[in-house]
Amino acid sequence: MSDDAVERPHAFDTRCVRAGISPDPTTGAIVPPLYQTATYVLPEVGRDLGFDYTRSSNPTRQVMENNLAALEGGAHCVAFGSGMSAVDAVLRCLSAGDHVVSSDDVYGGVSRLMNRILTRFGMEFTYVDSSNPANVREALRPNTKMIWLETPTNPLLKVTDLAAVSEIGKDAGIPVAVDSTFATPALLRPMEWGCDIVVHSTTKYLGGHNVIIGGAVVTNDDTWADDLRFIQKSVGAVPSPFDSWLTLLGMKTLHLRMERHSSNGLAVAQWLEDHPAVARVSYPGLPSHPGHAVAKAQMSAFSGMISFELTGGMEAGRDLMNNVKLCALAESLGAVETMITHPATMTHAEVPAEDRHARGLTDGLVRLSVGIEDPVDIIADLERALVD
Ligand code: PLP
Repeated sequence: MSDDAVERPHAFDTRCVRAGISPDPTTGAIVPPLYQTATYVLPEVGRDLGFDYTRSSNPTRQVMENNLAALEGGAHCVAFGSGMSAVDAVLRCLSAGDHVVSSDDVYGGVSRLMNRILTRFGMEFTYVDSSNPANVREALRPNTKMIWLETPTNPLLKVTDLAAVSEIGKDAGIPVAVDSTFATPALLRPMEWGCDIVVHSTTKYLGGHNVIIGGAVVTNDDTWADDLRFIQKSVGAVPSPFDSWLTLLGMKTLHLRMERHSSNGLAVAQWLEDHPAVARVSYPGLPSHPGHAVAKAQMSAFSGMISFELTGGMEAGRDLMNNVKLCALAESLGAVETMITHPATMTHAEVPAEDRHARGLTDGLVRLSVGIEDPVDIIADLERALVD
């Protein structure tokens, strides 16, 4: 290559497999070694070899962080021991008296953290339907220090226009943070739409195999990255080296899995929409979804998350969830296995009933995380369970 030739940046699929990963310099191992160590021996007082204690940093965790930063197109990634500790770390960068405008339909654990823990430390939260960006602007106050979004949301799959809300954040001089767990960087990269902070539960699609609990935050902002690293080492909610290694293994196939999750998701959503026992389906890939145009503009596909309601309501939903055999009745999402969930009694049980109902999360709502099995088998299982 001539001196002035510019190397083309690797495409997303290549970054999944290779970004941040180089052969181990001592052995040539193609897979980054698992540095399952708590501490590191210093060659002399005051000098380390780049690592001193695994709560602060660990080589395996660092490779995983670098890979995820590259996937989101961010300069920094800070990993945590769960999605919730990642959310908590971002919000803890704020202070008592600060106000946050948040999407109303967020994961139940996130609203529990906001309403039942962080308010005790003087933080204030206002929830709005962010699928209409005007609602976000109207909720801003002089002490608003962050806009918190989830898109698509858990469990209603509401979609927020990230470019529009980023503009609002920029006008107000405050950061926009996005929980992008449902989309992953394979389908949506929020920083490309002007957002400042991206949060993931790596437990879900990034890990992808139902084997770890983890979280991560990605940003291009050096000050935010410093604050997050300070919280990471001060609080210590870090992923183990082994969990970091497993997460990295999962991320190498993210692009392939998200393609299949998305094509299976669309096939199942279309089938559900045509089924006489189904009253309504929410899937951003369906033209009937109110956020379809925005989702189509900012996402490359629509992921594997669907929520729907049966004409028979709560009773029929319970029967369906008890009758499925291939679909697992389980409290998680984003793994290779198809999982079915009842948000009102499982993932969002601690959201007070009146709040759940006010935001449209009915007791009959069923959430499906469509896996990567053959879609014919998934649909056959649902069809049989709806009849039984
Ligand atoms: N964010 C979203 C959108 C989630 O769905 C979840 C968990 O379901 C979390 C955050 C929390 O992640 P974790 O379970 O890894 O703590």
